[in-house]
Amino acid sequence: MRLVVNLTRCEGYAQCAFLAPDVFQIRGEEALWDDPDPDEDQHDRVLRAAAACPVQAIRVDRIEARDAVAQASQAAATSGEATVPSQPVPPQRPAGAGPVAMREAAIGAFRRSGRIVIVGASLAGLAAAEVLRREGFTGSLTIIGDEPAQPYDRPPLSKQVLDGLVPADRTGLPGVGDLGARWLLGVPATGLDLVGRQVLLGDGGAVEYDRLLIATGTRARPWHDQAEAALDGVFVLRSSDDAAGLRQRLAGRPRRVLVIGGGFTGSEVASACRDQGLAVTVVERGVAPLVGALGGVIGQVAADLHRAHGVDLRCGVTVSSLEGDSGGRLRRAHLSDGSVVDADVAVVALGAVRNTEWLLGSRLAVSPWGVACDAGCRAFDLNGVTGDDVFVAGDVARFPHPLYDYQFLALEHWGNAVTQAEAAAHNMVSLPADRWAHLATPVFWSAQFGTNIKSVGAPTFADQVIIAQGSVPERRFVAVYGRQGRVTAAVAFDQGKWLEFYQQMIEAAAQFPPGFRAVDQPDDRQPVPAQIDKKISEFHATVAVTGHDPSERRAELISQY
Ligand SMILES: Cc1cc2nc3c(=O)[nH]c(=O)nc-3n(C[C@H](O)[C@H](O)[C@H](O)COP(=O)(O)OP(=O)(O)OC[C@H]3O[C@@H](n4cnc5c(N)ncnc54)[C@H](O)[C@@H]3O)c2cc1C
Ligand code: SF4
Repeated sequence: MRLVVNLTRCEGYAQCAFLAPDVFQIRGEEALWDDPDPDEDQHDRVLRAAAACPVQAIRVDRIEARDAVAQASQAAATSGEATVPSQPVPPQRPAGAGPVAMREAAIGAFRRSGRIVIVGASLAGLAAAEVLRREGFTGSLTIIGDEPAQPYDRPPLSKQVLDGLVPADRTGLPGVGDLGARWLLGVPATGLDLVGRQVLLGDGGAVEYDRLLIATGTRARPWHDQAEAALDGVFVLRSSDDAAGLRQRLAGRPRRVLVIGGGFTGSEVASACRDQGLAVTVVERGVAPLVGALGGVIGQVAADLHRAHGVDLRCGVTVSSLEGDSGGRLRRAHLSDGSVVDADVAVVALGAVRNTEWLLGSRLAVSPWGVACDAGCRAFDLNGVTGDDVFVAGDVARFPHPLYDYQFLALEHWGNAVTQAEAAAHNMVSLPADRWAHLATPVFWSAQFGTNIKSVGAPTFADQVIIAQGSVPERRFVAVYGRQGRVTAAVAFDQGKWLEFYQQMIEAAAQFPPGFRAVDQPDDRQPVPAQIDKKISEFHATVAVTGHDPSERRAELISQY
């Protein structure tokens, strides 16, 4: 059986850990770890746990999805279906019908027999496919993914998998087997023909669509020097294969692990190393770990957490080069302050790169920040105009959020991938008047050093922060972020259950600093500067506008990153 826990919802009440202790574990105070693919003998216990969860965060299925997906993709590959999709049935005009009835007839016909293609067979792609079927789309559904594996969950890769509790190939997502979809796995999309409405494939084929969802996510930013990146012992962590390789190396008990970058992934890797008693050095360019996401004040708390768990944390420095031995094995790293770290494993955790290159010739609005779309998930073309047949969701999307001055957000959050995909899928099969705006407040979690860190809102969109509840020395608190007198975000360390309350404050544009009396309120509550790094994008403009007459003015891509 397969399960997934929506940890954006989980409030750490631990009923699941009582009812199925071999499947669910609480680490530290409230971080939940689960086995996503438990043995069948756990079946009844897992179902009881799912039913008892007060926030309905546990989702289970028992479909032998591995076989279903493998068979479906093999059948599609051998039948040549990929290049010969079925034709949509045109809508029938009801006798004497007006424009409204005509539009309804058209969307009804599309729901029955249209052709939808999803590029990106992972969390967002799967969530969208499920909603399409749930909303009654019975037409042809093709899911294209460049990874050979069926959709799997990534958050466990840097947690349970690195700790050795769950094998890397057992984080598959539930819901894969019952979609009636044509799966083209192990095949990259290499181009998009917007006029001909077809996705071009790496194997020379093409798949036609009536509506397309782009959900190609991100990949790990590689180490900048290719020869150094190729040294044995240098890893990134994005895919199941990456996690399997790194896990195997950690199990071999390296003398020291070097983590390059103290963001969420780097911190979780360091945490897994310390769990196993391995020596680990984290090198972070900023003043503290997590500083890019949470600012300097809460970053200092994260720094204390690292050091309290025995991490050799070096902040304000960078790794200049990696050095190998004559056998091509990593031996040491040279740092910008002149120091040297001897290590035989290095994990490059320098953030992500959005998978947009395949769209560069398509005339969609792509940039290093992702594919721009409106709040209804419709992709912008290069001129900033949205069409009605190309949608975007997940880590690859960039969208305006009204709560944040309509600025474009590009989020790499599990919860956003799911909610945005759900909105995109709904909109793909709905009339314009029935469409949803993707207005979900961003939510993120991380588990590191036995601490559950949860964030709601956009902490980087803040100028001040205040500790609203709990105790920083005990690392059990809620920090509330504000900007220009209103609440914009909240971050909890082992206090996840309060975040829904703060989410409501963010959504109501409540006053900052918050005036309410809270449980466990510290005496010396005062807002302080949040120490958010306001560095301006270093990317150059990618688009120039040409032409004089309004009928001929066009945007042109002039620099391809
Ligand atoms: C190690 C790790 C730990 C994480 N932990 C957390 C966490 O604790 N909390 C949290 O909120 N989030 C976490 N995340 C982030 C979360 O997993 C992502 O937000 C989520 O996976 C995004 O889903 P997606 O479907 O948009 O993109 P992805 O999961 O990146 O999937 C995109 C898919 O498209 C494929 N693809 C790319 N280009 C092409 C192409 N041209 N043709 C066909 N297929 C293509 C990719 O190979 C991939 O399979 C973590 C991520 C990682 C890597
Ligand atoms: S909220 Fe649900 S998933 Fe989270 S710990 Fe409690 S029972 Fe488990």
